[in-house]
Amino acid sequence: MISKINRKTLLYKSEVEYADYCINHVEGCSHGCRYPCYAMMLKKRCGVIKDYNDWIHPKLVMNALELLNKEIPKLKGKIHVVHLCFTTDPFMYKQKEVKELTLKIIERLNKDNIRCTVLTKGILPKELLDIKKYGENNEYGITLVSLNEKFRKEYEPGTAPFKKRIDSLKFLSENNLKTWISMEPYPTTNIIKQNLEKILSKISFVDSLIFGKLNYNVKVSKFQKEDKEFYDKCANQVISFCELRGIGYHIKYGTKKKDNKETSDIFIQNYNKSILF
Ligand code: SF4
Repeated sequence: MISKINRKTLLYKSEVEYADYCINHVEGCSHGCRYPCYAMMLKKRCGVIKDYNDWIHPKLVMNALELLNKEIPKLKGKIHVVHLCFTTDPFMYKQKEVKELTLKIIERLNKDNIRCTVLTKGILPKELLDIKKYGENNEYGITLVSLNEKFRKEYEPGTAPFKKRIDSLKFLSENNLKTWISMEPYPTTNIIKQNLEKILSKISFVDSLIFGKLNYNVKVSKFQKEDKEFYDKCANQVISFCELRGIGYHIKYGTKKKDNKETSDIFIQNYNKSILF
């Protein structure tokens, strides 16, 4: 059984473009990504967790709903979109208690007409189809940077298999819910050689896509010379793919060659197309 903790606050102001606030209602994450996980590095630096082993034994925030009931009225009019999650995973694979709490949180936010954007490396549950409980305007996403299961087991050991992840997302899309993909951190070819076009072809049903490079892995430093060329080529492939199909996209800063201007132009051009931005 998963451990429990209490927190003093839950809703945090977000710094990303697509959400005003975010919620991290679990401490740690059993997915244990080895890219490495930025959230884990941060928590370790702040002394919240001891090590990797501590991180992969998540703790559920027991009083999350109680906190939401107090915080939502205080933020009335200021809060429109909440992202789940930045420093944990809302549908952690095979963690039933995390899934149940996440569903209750989405339901509570939607009750006050607060939209949610959700991102997971787990499986999006079919329960989300119940639009009386969860509304129709949430945006459900999965992270997908490969289709290779050997790579997944090495870099995302506790996550859901890629096919299961895609199937759960496709199911929601086929039932008219909004879906998106986070293709970040996309690995360099000294980590895995793979066909980006083939990965994209599996998720052509989504409404929008975010593409970004790998930043913190030691193998990236060995790849630096080709790095820009590689990511520039990938970003162009993603852009062509999305434009051809009317999929909204955002190329993360630093992924495309040279300049911020080019990147921010891409962002602006597609602002209206994307459900997320
Ligand atoms: S799923 Fe996200 S939060 Fe969980 S370990 Fe992986 S990168 Fe970290």
